[in-house]
Amino acid sequence: MNPLFRDMPTTIFEAMSARARARGAINLGQGFPDGPRCDRVIAAAARALEERSNQYPPATGLPELRGAVARWYGRHQGLALDPDEVVITSGATEALAASLLALIRPGDEVLLFAPLYDAYLPLVERAGGTAKVLRLALPSGRIDREAFDAAIGPATRLLVFNDPLNPLGTRAHPDDLAFLAERCAAHDLVAICDEVWEALVYDGGAHRSLMACPGMRERTVKIGSAGKIFGLTGWKVGWMCAAPPLARVLAKAHQFLTFTTPPNLQWALAEGLENEDAWIATARDQHQASRDVLSGGLAALGLVPLPSAATYFVSVDLAASGIAADDTAFCEAIIDRAGVAAIPVSAFFASEPATHLVRFCFAKERATLDAALARLGEALAVPGLLRG
Ligand code: PMP
Repeated sequence: MNPLFRDMPTTIFEAMSARARARGAINLGQGFPDGPRCDRVIAAAARALEERSNQYPPATGLPELRGAVARWYGRHQGLALDPDEVVITSGATEALAASLLALIRPGDEVLLFAPLYDAYLPLVERAGGTAKVLRLALPSGRIDREAFDAAIGPATRLLVFNDPLNPLGTRAHPDDLAFLAERCAAHDLVAICDEVWEALVYDGGAHRSLMACPGMRERTVKIGSAGKIFGLTGWKVGWMCAAPPLARVLAKAHQFLTFTTPPNLQWALAEGLENEDAWIATARDQHQASRDVLSGGLAALGLVPLPSAATYFVSVDLAASGIAADDTAFCEAIIDRAGVAAIPVSAFFASEPATHLVRFCFAKERATLDAALARLGEALAVPGLLRG
């Protein structure tokens, strides 16, 4: 038995969702949306099950979907990708696993940034790499350049960069993108860019990939997820994009992980990416409106929500809100006493966690957000219950 997995806790998302179910709590923890749903894409998947092949599609993905992903990035991010530079995977998680397994050699050092998505560290270690975890400034998400330079050594080979950032909902500062690009070129590093939140950028902003920065086209693996673009998180269809020499190696790691991804979902997402730009924009605007409802409601309760520029998430700063409890104690208290589940941001650190931030998912129906705010308001009104 591998001690890495034997000793590993169940993910915080699964644990909090299970507690929310047991308590009958409103689940603003795990990041899945109540809606909107793109009925045409769902109907296309159902149609493809009936009318198209249900046998193994090509390992790198249906050419139609690979082309649709490449064209979508051309339209939205100004990237000129060839369909051969796109490998379809079973979710971004598989793309991360395949990239790390393909590119890490035993003993290679990999730079990660905390707060970090929980899959990164175990995947790096399982692939034989040594993780060096750098802290981002809170709450801005800015990179500490001195710490970055101090962490780079002769064995540093890769970095994993999540932008927009889960859990903070921040977007990379253009100066940080330029800094990373410069350092990747100078130290011959490959950047694995987890950009699953790229379509959920608010307030008129447009996502810019590190891959678009000077010198990065040949040394970036860009990872995306249809689960996020269409709000279909259970479909687990993602991809990794890279220049041909990298893409060939990534495809080899992918062939022995899942080999392929259900063909009906690939057909449907190819249609969706080609035809549903308007739906994707409307969904983004609806999520932005939900963000404003939740952030405004939390502020009205006397809590201090951080600005959220992207993702499904807004975090509350407990210390700034006058709450003495740490994030885990606060999350336990609001599940038990308010019937609302959230995620402690300390779960996104490998060591020395920040313990003053709690992440709430706002991608819910208006009535659900209102009910959660009402429950939190009642619990906060009881002296001493949540506020110290
Ligand atoms: N990376 C980040 C930063 C995420 O937030 C998520 C999903 N919450 C994933 C990867 C996983 O994406 P998928 O469901 O497509 O595997």
